Amino acid sequence: MISSTIDGKVIEQLRTLVEGAKHIVITCHVSPDGDAVGSTLGLCRVLRNMGKDAHVVMPDRMPRALDFVDVQHEVVPYSKYKLRGRFLVREADLIFCLDFNVLRRIDELGAIIEESRAPRVLIDHHLEPDDCFDVKISQEHASSTCELVYRVLMQLGWTQAIDSQAASCLYVGITTDTSNLTYSSNDPELYEIVAQLLRYGIAKEQLYNLAMNTYSADSLRLQGYALDQKMQLYPDKHAALIVLTLDELEHYGYKKGDTEGLVNKPLAIPGIAFSTFIREDKDKIKVSCRSQGDLDVNVICKRYFGGGGHKNAAGGDSHGTVDETLDTYFKILETL
Ligand code: 5GP
Ligand code: MN
Repeated sequence: MISSTIDGKVIEQLRTLVEGAKHIVITCHVSPDGDAVGSTLGLCRVLRNMGKDAHVVMPDRMPRALDFVDVQHEVVPYSKYKLRGRFLVREADLIFCLDFNVLRRIDELGAIIEESRAPRVLIDHHLEPDDCFDVKISQEHASSTCELVYRVLMQLGWTQAIDSQAASCLYVGITTDTSNLTYSSNDPELYEIVAQLLRYGIAKEQLYNLAMNTYSADSLRLQGYALDQKMQLYPDKHAALIVLTLDELEHYGYKKGDTEGLVNKPLAIPGIAFSTFIREDKDKIKVSCRSQGDLDVNVICKRYFGGGGHKNAAGGDSHGTVDETLDTYFKILETL
């Protein structure tokens, strides 16, 4: 039995908004991962099955590795198709914001959404959501936004609009954000949700392989190099650090998504409880942190890198040089 974890009044508010909406835009955070892509495309498919004119507009391109989720090749990346993205947001009479908690996280698209008078619905599982949403469904203990989308549809009584394509999208998000039901997945009800998704005929093994275990040769070589040559261990701090510079990334033909999951790897070493990956991008430095146990990397990323996330998985940006970012990192180590 899957219980109703979302407030009944919120669900009724949402029902009224969706029933009254003709044009719906669904968006997610920058550098979308499997949960962001799965939840937006899954919800979009369901809303279309209900006769709504729904569109997914993302702040930037999704990694090619996730193209398989976008069966109809319909995602509009705002960074590439600004006119189309702006048109869709302006036309929308309802906007869903999935898998992120603050409009700042969606770059330029955030400003366009702020200008819109359409009500904004948040469905998310990150800590400390903004106040700028008209309907807020934010549950930090949920495994994934995809789980929450399923729960929302269940409470609305709209699961008949789910089909195998929508169910596949939702499964991709659940498997991504729990690392194939490893962490954030101790709620027995999650397995009941997965059981329901299986009943829609999803190809579970194939989805796992595509979402979690498919890498280009370049990406595997880059990860091998990073672990062999670039991983630093600070055993007295239980910490591991990997830094990849632009030159190194370019040498391996880096494409968006190629280092996905790398930051988790050092946590496999007994005694390592804090792993950090610093990646030099063209316009900024991306910092990803993972922890095991009590260390709250959400607090660290918020304080030092203007970011956030979850207690054991968070990220942020640094706008200085790699060396300046490293100075900050060693300052953090001193506090541990
Ligand atoms: P990752 O390290 O894989 O990029 O992100 C880990 C988690 O932290 C994800 O849940 C992601 O949404 C969140 N996160 C990553 N970067 C940022 C950021 O810059 N700001 C905020 N608020 N959350 C982030
Ligand atoms: Mn997520």
